[in-house]
Amino acid sequence: MYYVIMDLEWNNAYSRKHNGFFNEIIEIGAVLADDSFRTLDTFSVFIKSQLGKKLSSRVKKLTKISNEDLKTGVTFPRAVKELKKWIGERDCVFMSWGNSDVRTLVENYKFFLGSDTVLIMKKYADLQKYCQDAMGLGSANQVGLSAAAMQLGIDVEKYETHRALEDCRLSLKCLRKCQSIYAKGALRDYVMNCDDSFYRRLAFKVHNITNIHNPKIDRSVMNCRCETCGEDMLRLSDWKVANQAFRSLFYCKSCNQLLLCSMRFKETFDGVFVITSLKKVEKQRT
Ligand SMILES: [Zn+2]
Repeated sequence: MYYVIMDLEWNNAYSRKHNGFFNEIIEIGAVLADDSFRTLDTFSVFIKSQLGKKLSSRVKKLTKISNEDLKTGVTFPRAVKELKKWIGERDCVFMSWGNSDVRTLVENYKFFLGSDTVLIMKKYADLQKYCQDAMGLGSANQVGLSAAAMQLGIDVEKYETHRALEDCRLSLKCLRKCQSIYAKGALRDYVMNCDDSFYRRLAFKVHNITNIHNPKIDRSVMNCRCETCGEDMLRLSDWKVANQAFRSLFYCKSCNQLLLCSMRFKETFDGVFVITSLKKVEKQRT
């Protein structure tokens, strides 16, 4: 098995066809690695933009890519052809830091090639998810590549981050570090076949449910236990929405303590997950 660590840079451009903004890919970077995650080859290409005639100042500043750089690029269909040729007949698992790159790739495939799927990608693994799990960071928040690399003790200064190929190199370095701390063979569980369900999952917009009457909200879980004594607490107020979570005041009789409970119902492709947090309210009940 081979691995293709991929990273894209894109420019948010106005599209008449979409009657809205569209993330047009301007650079593709990739590193080909073997089973032991040794680098075999690298790939890098600029893409001449078709929609956005000029790069936004945010993208220019972030990536240090200039409009002149893009003039040396090829069209998106040409870039994909080159990438395909570079991969050849190898059986590969594609990887990227988070799935936003894949989502953008799918959008560009649809726009420029009229295809609903990324034909060159047969298997995919989310490197960000793998590394966060390996580092014990959970999945409630997404950790950026540089932040994760720093936590892993990697000298980020050595990398020109926010450039496609450099981000791939840094991602691979993170992957190697995480391999040494995570269960052997754990990566296998992160590899998905790029089938219908993969694309449905990708298209699913993870969001927080903020309407308490939504039938997907299980009211029976909306109670709180005291962090100190483990007793069920008494709810003192109605649930109110704040910061996309439901919030209510609870009281622990045994501890004579007030706690503010916040419950976030995160709906993902796999179901609804509840994230609860408790905060002590300083003033004690008399
Ligand atoms: Zn208590």
